[in-house]
Amino acid sequence: MRISRKVQQFTESVIREMSRHAIELGAVNLAQGFPDFSAPEEIKRAAQQAIAADINQYSITWGARDFRRAIADSFVRWQGTEIDPEREVAVCCGSTEAMIAALLGLADPGEEIIVFEPFYENYNPDVILSDTVMRYVTLHPPKTDSDDWTFDPAELRAAFSSKTRAIIINTPHNPTGKVFTREELELVRDLCLEFDALCITDEIYEHILYDGARHISPVTIDGMRDRTVTINSLSKTYSVTGWRVGWAIAAPELCTGIRKVHDFLTVGTASPLQAAGITALGMPPSYYAELSEHYSARRGLLLAALRSAGFHAWTPRGAYYIMTDISGFGAENDRAFAMQMVREFGIAAVPGSSFYRAGQGGSQQIRFTFCKKTETLERAAANLRNMAEQLRSTAGARA
Ligand code: PLP
Repeated sequence: MRISRKVQQFTESVIREMSRHAIELGAVNLAQGFPDFSAPEEIKRAAQQAIAADINQYSITWGARDFRRAIADSFVRWQGTEIDPEREVAVCCGSTEAMIAALLGLADPGEEIIVFEPFYENYNPDVILSDTVMRYVTLHPPKTDSDDWTFDPAELRAAFSSKTRAIIINTPHNPTGKVFTREELELVRDLCLEFDALCITDEIYEHILYDGARHISPVTIDGMRDRTVTINSLSKTYSVTGWRVGWAIAAPELCTGIRKVHDFLTVGTASPLQAAGITALGMPPSYYAELSEHYSARRGLLLAALRSAGFHAWTPRGAYYIMTDISGFGAENDRAFAMQMVREFGIAAVPGSSFYRAGQGGSQQIRFTFCKKTETLERAAANLRNMAEQLRSTAGARA
C-alpha cells in the first residue's frame, strides 16, 4: 500500500494540526485563523432564506450569474476596476481552491512559481500538486516598530527567469501582516512584464488593515490588468470561513483555464451560500470600517499580552496574525515550544517553521491569531501571564 510520490512530499497542515491539539487539550486556540464569534446576522439570514427559497441545486459551474455580477460590482467598488462577470470570474470553494485551480489551470510542469518566504503554508502543497517548482524570496523582519517586513529587490530580480510562470503575492500577508506598497508592487510589475510572468494574488485580508495602511490590489498597477489573477473569498471579511466560497478574477483566456480545473475538482460552490454572498458583498461602508476597528482593538490586546510575557512581537499592518520571535525563552525550537505551550499552558499557536521551507527559517518564531472574542483573548492573556511566571520560576530554580 502506498500514497503518491507527490503527496509524500508534504505533511498535513501544521495549522490545522495545532487546532486539533487545542480541541483535545482544551487550550485557547490562537492557531487557526477562524473567528469564534458570530457571523453578521443579515448574511446568515440570507443563507437561510436562500435554502428556504430552494436555491439548493447546482449553480452554473463557475458561479451563479447574480453572484458573479456582485463580485464584479464589488471589484469596481473597491479596486475601481471593471471586469466582465460573464468571462472573467470563476467562483470556487474558497480561495484555497481558487489558488490550486489557478496553478493547475495556468502553469505547466517544471515552470517556476515565486513566493515570498515566510508564506501561507498551503502554497507549498499547491506547487507540488501542480508539478511546478517554488522559488523563494526572503521577507526580512522589521527593524523598528514603524517599519514593515521588507525584501531585497536584487533577490526578487534574481528569482525571475525564463522559467518563471507566476509570482504569488499575498497582501495583506499571512503570517507577517505585511501590506505590500505601491512601490514594491510596481517592481513586481516591471519584472512580470520583463519575464512575461503572471501575478497570482491572494487578497483575502484586503479589508483588515491598521494604522492607516492601504490595500493596493496588484491588478490596479499599470500594465497588470491582464496578467493578474486576483483571488479572494468571503471567509475572512465576513467571518464565514466554513462556507467555502471564494473566487478568482482573471482575463478571459486565463479564466477559462481556471474554470476548467474547477469544474472537475469540485463542480461548484454551495448555491445558497453564493446567494448569501450577494448580501455579504453589498454590506455598507460602515461594516468594513468596523471590521478593521474591531480587529485593531484585539491586535492591541494580544500584542500587549505577548510582549509582557516575553515574546518579541512584530506589529502587523494588516490581516489578523502576530508573528513573534521566541529567542528570549531559550527554547529548543518553535515546534517544541508550541507543543509545550499547548500542553502545559493551554495556548495553541503555530510553529513559525511551518511558514518556511524545511530547515530554512522560523525555528525561533511562533504565529498567533487574534480573530477571537475579547473573552477568548483575555483567557489567552491570563494563560500567557501564568506561562511567563512559571517559566521564570523554573529558570530561577535552575540558576
Ligand atoms: N490564503 C491565506 C493567506 C490564508 O491565510 C487563508 C486562511 O487562513 C486562506 C487563503 C484560506 O482561505 P479560504 O477560506 O478562502 O479558502
